[in-house]
Amino acid sequence: VISRTLGPVDLYRFERFASSKQRTMLAAEHPTCAWPGCNIPAERGQFHHLTPWKHGGETNVANLVTLCNYHNGINDDDPNAPPRRGRLTRQGGKIIWQPPHTSR
Ligand SMILES: [Zn+2]
Repeated sequence: VISRTLGPVDLYRFERFASSKQRTMLAAEHPTCAWPGCNIPAERGQFHHLTPWKHGGETNVANLVTLCNYHNGINDDDPNAPPRRGRLTRQGGKIIWQPPHTSR
């Protein structure tokens, strides 16, 4: 068992939900929703897996980003589904919005 408070920051596949330590780090990186143009504060949002949990994504800071409830809902999570609103991804350590209809 990995302690939520004393253990390592990355949780890999042990926990689906971000720990308080991860939330603090992620809110420092993105004080607001990371979707371009959105200003909903991190504390009112959610922590989104860039590679979805159901596709094997890990609960690690590198795979998590602050999103508001709305943008977490519209992000194109499923790489096999038809693209609709684009999705967030991490490139070179930075979160970028990847428009729909671009190759992955
Ligand atoms: Zn948002």
